[in-house]
This record gives sequence, C-alpha cells and structure tokens, in this order.
Amino acid sequence: MHLLDTLEQSLRELDAHGLRRRRRTIDTPCDAHMTVDGRETIGFASNDYLGLAAHPQLVAALAEGAQRYGAGSGGSHLLGGHSRAHAQLEDDLAIFAGGFVDAPRALYFSTGYMANLAVLTALAGRGTTIFSDSLNHASLIDGARLSRADIQIYPHADMDALSAMLDASDAGTKLIVSDTVFSMDGDVAPLARLVELAEAHGAWLVVDDAHGLGVLGPQGRGAIAEAALRSPYLVMVGTLGKAAGVSGAFVCAHATVIEWLVQRARPYIFTTASSPAVAHAVSASLRIIAGEEGDARRAHLRHLIGRTRAILKETCWMPVDSATAVQPLVIGSNDATLALQAALENDGLWVPAIRPPTVPVGTSRLRISLSAAHSDADLDRLNDSLQRASRAALEGA
Ligand SMILES: *Cc1c(COP(=O)(O)O)cnc(C)c1O
Repeated sequence: MHLLDTLEQSLRELDAHGLRRRRRTIDTPCDAHMTVDGRETIGFASNDYLGLAAHPQLVAALAEGAQRYGAGSGGSHLLGGHSRAHAQLEDDLAIFAGGFVDAPRALYFSTGYMANLAVLTALAGRGTTIFSDSLNHASLIDGARLSRADIQIYPHADMDALSAMLDASDAGTKLIVSDTVFSMDGDVAPLARLVELAEAHGAWLVVDDAHGLGVLGPQGRGAIAEAALRSPYLVMVGTLGKAAGVSGAFVCAHATVIEWLVQRARPYIFTTASSPAVAHAVSASLRIIAGEEGDARRAHLRHLIGRTRAILKETCWMPVDSATAVQPLVIGSNDATLALQAALENDGLWVPAIRPPTVPVGTSRLRISLSAAHSDADLDRLNDSLQRASRAALEGA
C-alpha cells in the first residue's frame, strides 16, 4: 500500500472512533469573549486562569521588550542567546517560587514540555528508577522515556502503593515525579506525603506546577507554597503560558541542581533561546500575579470555581471533585461527549471535549476551564446551556 494510503486509512479509523481532533482558529486575543472560527464565543478552553493573556500591561511589556532587545534572541543560551531579560526573569522566578529550598535558582525554558524533558533526562538515566503517577502529563511521560531510566507507574495519588514500590526498589538513584494539579481532573497531589517519602528514601521529587502557579498559594506562588513545604530534594517545574498569560516555563531548585541542568540538559542546550521580549513580559506578569491585582483575580476565580461546582452537580453527568480552575464533567463515551460539546457550541460556548489518549477510555469529558476574566453572566450562560442539554439527555435516555 502507498505510504499516504496507510496514513489516510489510520485517519479514517480516528474518525470512526470519534477521535479526530480539529483545531479552532481564533481571531481575537485569548479572553472570556472571543471570535472563534468567525463566531462570537464565550471561551472555557484556555488555561489563562487569571485572565492575563490579553492584559494591557503585558502587551505593553512585550512591546517594550522588543524595543529594547529586538525580535529574536539569535542563539542558544550557551552560545550567545542569553539576554539580560532572560537573566533578570530567572532572578525574579527564583525569588517568586524558590521559597521551598535554601539557595534557590531558576532556569527559564521556551516551553514546559522542554523543561520536563530537561529535568528528567538530566536527573535520571540508566540505573535510575522513576516513580511516576499514572495521570502525569504527557511531557513527564515522554521525559521519563527519553531518560532511559526504569519507570514504575503508581496508581493515581496512591501513596501506600508508592511507598511500597520505593521500599522494594534497590535503584541507585530514585526520582518521584508528579503533577501538582492534575491537568484533566483538577485534583491536587498529596504533596506533603510526597515530600516525606522522597526524604525517607533519598529520592528526588520533581513536581510539575503548570496548573498551580499563579493560582494557588500566597501571592500565587504555587502549590508547594500553598502546602508550605520545604525540601532540598524538591525540584519544581512551573509553566508561564497558563496563569502567567505569556509563554515559556522554568525549573526552580537548589542552585546546584540548576547548574547541572545548564551543563547537561540537552533540551536546554540545543535549542534557540526564546525571544527576550517574551521573558521581559513574563517578569511584568510576575509583578501582577504577586501584587494586589493578582489577589483580586484569585479571589474572583475562587468565587467562579465555587459556582461552577454547584452548576455541574445539577447536571445528569459526573463532575470530578475539583477545587481548582479545571472543572471536568465526565460524560463517558466519545460520541456523547462530542454531542454535548456541539450543543454548547451551538449556544455560543466553547468547552472542549477531552478524549483518549489524553484521558482513560470511557472517561471522555468536557474540560471547563475557568478564568478570572469570566463574569457571573458568563457562568449564567454556561448554566442555562448545560441544564438544557442535561434535560434533553435525560429525556432521550
Ligand atoms: C501545559 C503543561 C505542560 C507543558 O507546558 P507548555 O509550556 O505548554 O509546553 C507541562 N505539564 C503540564 C502538567 C501541563 O499542563
């Protein structure tokens, strides 16, 4: 068979299983109200939890960064592309997020995907065992595979199972890895217990705070700060394209860990540094997040989360018990999930359907993602549309 025929056959199979994904094209900034594929829509699809992606101060900071440093970095961080804006941002990030360790230092990456590949490949290798939560983000899974370490997967958030696995392991180096807030369920990992286990077993603990940074903890310093944890074994990854509203990511840890990454992490070394203007805008974002405006946005987000939980409980489907901005509603089959997504879309609401392999088979869901940019009127619209679809589903059943 022709190579293209093989691919087309595979694509038809995706269609047959309701697994084909389609991109929407957005003509307006990421905000509560957007124009998507030419239609006015209320968006519940972004990870812009604080509603900062279109913030005028960040837009201005991006422009100012471009005026000052130009459009491109021109090179990799080790070969001429490390700008003053990157250096300043790393200092800002270490102060913002590094309270969990003495001598914190931060390293800025273009994306969270690369930061996770970097941490896992630099800290783990042959002879290491990585203990990984079964619901970890794809980038952590890929980083673990790329590291060539042995990988043991523990059932989601099951600390007894993890403890037993650590007890039974005679690996030279052990590394535990977990999301803080799980991206498709919105629940928070048992972080205090994870730190205890890491310290008891002399293991690294890598936590990915992609959905916690900016949202959780005092001044939005993240899930580790919220749990008030400290440990030299902790290595934190934070992303800057979600609540921080810009792009990029960072690793924060003891300075020695960071220096090792600079020397050895291939996903850090062999790639062009992001535009310095972006780093400049992220520094401005951190100032908003840590200040009074950040507090006000987090308070409004908490209000929206409480209301949404109540709304989802009124439907005939299964909400996941989540206290974060990620509010999943489990529908079950792919077809039913896509039908509900289409019904909401018809009402001018954009709520993405999440299907395997992102979530386990049979647990396809809507992922309602809240932002401080949403208003109560936006939630009223979501409520009306969901309850109407719920009544229709019950009548059809
Ligand atoms: C989004 C996300 C990433 C990847 O971050 P990017 O900056 O988008 O590449 C990593 N981990 C988790 C848990 C995420 O949700």
